[in-house]
Amino acid sequence: MNKPLLFAANWKMQVTPHEALTFLDTFLARHEASAARSVAFFPSAVTIAAVASRLANHPEIIVGAQDVHWEPKGAFTGATSVPLAKGAGATAALIGHSERRHVFGETDAETHRKVRAVLDGGMLAMLCVGEKLEEREAGNTTAVVERQLRAALAGVAPGANLVVAYEPVWAIGTGKNATPEDANAVHATIRDVLGSLGIPRTTRVLYGGSVKVENAGALVGQPEIDGVLVGGASLEAEGWARICAAG
Ligand code: PEP
Repeated sequence: MNKPLLFAANWKMQVTPHEALTFLDTFLARHEASAARSVAFFPSAVTIAAVASRLANHPEIIVGAQDVHWEPKGAFTGATSVPLAKGAGATAALIGHSERRHVFGETDAETHRKVRAVLDGGMLAMLCVGEKLEEREAGNTTAVVERQLRAALAGVAPGANLVVAYEPVWAIGTGKNATPEDANAVHATIRDVLGSLGIPRTTRVLYGGSVKVENAGALVGQPEIDGVLVGGASLEAEGWARICAAG
């Protein structure tokens, strides 16, 4: 295996700053840094600063926000801007996570504005796309993923600092996951769409959705899968270190 892998932890609305420090002590004692793989943490906004400061001597580990507003500042109570996230130590942001789209009602147009704000702010954008169960059952996986990619990435420069995460909504937090082969096929489609947008097909494409120690190796062993974005199984430090060693 010679492709560089990325293992990204989405901590969602969990993990206090104090808990994060305890977690990182355990994780760092077990994690072996390597040029062949990198790790990213996406803590809640209030936990970013603690994680970034604990990882100050680990520049190879990415710290990111789970969402940002597209405006740099203003009267947007509860929201986090790109400058605020960067000020707390984030260098990346998740955009378009299925919970933003389907719990908070975020539209394709809003996702696009957020991607642009993250890239214009000099951060890495990790764009999440994925179909709902009814869309998959209706045979619309490709159409949905393509619509989300085209909307979010319109006008994005070929050299943009971008990662795409394919996360079928029906697989997130459900214990059901796409087979490695099915996920691999969707990843190939994602690369075709990226290519048609003038964005390199070599852009990293991660899989997310009920990834755990038991299935991480088979997923990252697929030729089109460049890593994983993990929710539930990233909350326990020893298990997360094992996932980060998969492949
Ligand atoms: C996620 O939240 O991005 C995710 C993939 O969650 P889980 O691993 O719990 O399915």
